[in-house]
Amino acid sequence: MARVVAISNQKGGVGKTTTTINLAAALAARGQRVLVVDLDPQGNATSGLGYPRTEIGRGTYDLLLDLCDVESVLLPTEHDGLHVLPANRDLVGAELDLVDVDQRERRLRKVLGTVREHYDHILVDCPPSLGLLTINALVASDGVLMPLQAEYYAMEGLGELLRTIAAVRKSLNPDLQREGIVVTMTDARNNLCREVERQARTLFGDGVFQTVIPRNVRLGEAPSHGKPIVQYDPRSMGAKAYFSLADELLARRSGPTARSWKEAV
Ligand code: ADP
Ligand code: MG
Repeated sequence: MARVVAISNQKGGVGKTTTTINLAAALAARGQRVLVVDLDPQGNATSGLGYPRTEIGRGTYDLLLDLCDVESVLLPTEHDGLHVLPANRDLVGAELDLVDVDQRERRLRKVLGTVREHYDHILVDCPPSLGLLTINALVASDGVLMPLQAEYYAMEGLGELLRTIAAVRKSLNPDLQREGIVVTMTDARNNLCREVERQARTLFGDGVFQTVIPRNVRLGEAPSHGKPIVQYDPRSMGAKAYFSLADELLARRSGPTARSWKEAV
């Protein structure tokens, strides 16, 4: 049965999509069965896995609104064991269209319930907001993985995300756990980057993954080729970092159950 993980942070450009795609591909390369769910109307996870958004017919919008079944949306990728539920253009309107539907926060949970048994991991790429799409991701998930960009305002807004997670735990999904914080786009020579990482480790202890993702040009280039880094340039620093993150995640899974956010914060 898959563990569902939301990749979330309401800030844009912190590495959510990059982490979703490349962690998914690295896990698949380790022989895991992985499903990526693109819940961001920008559709960057979809295009980063090789499907230009203009070519997508049915997508996660149709699933959330219960307009079709999962099989008619599911796409394979060039990686064995890695599938994607793509974002289609309609997803832009989902926040509004969901407002009046029954069980609006639980739509994704219901959708994933029908496919969970076919995967080891389901990674949900969230939009840069804390609206209904992100709430759907948090309600559907077992864990939240938060990318934290190593820059000056990194911590700002983290409180808001943590409060949202706490609210979801309280009312809609009491089992939601922390998957961890991953520091992204870091540069070991930069004092500020090191300081952000140090602060995060002081605040969240082992809630922060040991693996940090370096700033790496190859990681920035890969999406324009519609490929994850482990395929585009497997020897790059970026690929090595995401393989390391995948291995760390797998090691944690086989260890004691992840601690809950309540204990961690
Ligand atoms: P988000 O999904 O949080 O908005 P993205 O993953 O799309 O963020 O990343 C924002 C931009 O930064 C993208 O252009 C991406 O290619 C680039 N990027 C992300 N991580 C790295 C990295 N470690 N090194 C270099 N560029 C990166
Ligand atoms: Mg994104």
